[in-house]
Amino acid sequence: MPLVNAKEMNINNLEWTKAILLTAQELNSPVILGVSEGAGKYMCGYKTVVGMVNGMLEELKITVPVALHLDHGSYEGAKACIAAGFSSIMFDGSHYPIEENVEKTKELVATCEELGLSIEAEVGSIGGEEDGVIGAGECADPAECKMIADLGVTMLAAGIGNIHGKYPENWAGLSFETLDAIQQLTGEMPLVLHGGTGIPADMIKKAISLGVSKINVNTECQLAFAAATREYIEAGKDLQGKGFDPRKLLAPGFQAIKDTVKEKMELFGSVDKA
Ligand SMILES: [Zn+2]
Repeated sequence: MPLVNAKEMNINNLEWTKAILLTAQELNSPVILGVSEGAGKYMCGYKTVVGMVNGMLEELKITVPVALHLDHGSYEGAKACIAAGFSSIMFDGSHYPIEENVEKTKELVATCEELGLSIEAEVGSIGGEEDGVIGAGECADPAECKMIADLGVTMLAAGIGNIHGKYPENWAGLSFETLDAIQQLTGEMPLVLHGGTGIPADMIKKAISLGVSKINVNTECQLAFAAATREYIEAGKDLQGKGFDPRKLLAPGFQAIKDTVKEKMELFGSVDKA
């Protein structure tokens, strides 16, 4: 499956997966379904996720390129997803010393090459709620990026001031200086922008023009899903007729995910790229 300019939409349950796949098909856009280790556990394990996604690809007649990708995988998680049938993994060895990150990434690159999977690696760490950093995101060392890129990874995540979760009011913005310095050294290597929620459209476009090929979006879908569900309940619709039926209760959230995904595919330029 070719990985073209695409975005990663994280999935959290059946409704999200269905909403993302249908929207990708409608817009003729390739898509990467991102699954964090926590979301994988929530959905009853990687095998369940693979079964659900493969079932939907067939039953919904999805023909656009779809990758099923592990987001921020540990070394063990990456191996488990490879065994379960994922088509792409991220090995996040950014918390290891660079030598150990290199060693483990190298081993996983060899496995992925043999099986025809894509692999994303991370250099430096991406700030945000996950590690308690609030304010400025971290910036990766371009020389370390080059070391990891040279191992033969498919794509590289590097901090350029981006952060996970909601961006704070005083966020300094993306560091295009860092992005440019990384790209000067890594050349054609597709770069990944994590924390895609809340980055202004002009910064996203500039980042894409400077080599960012994959943008991760999760929080924005979570916020849209929650807001639509809240609106439904606050309007008392769950108390009318059979409004309590989960198929009705979750329908506004499902539609909100579809709308968010459409907006992102248009912004990222992946429409009609399947
Ligand atoms: Zn991330």
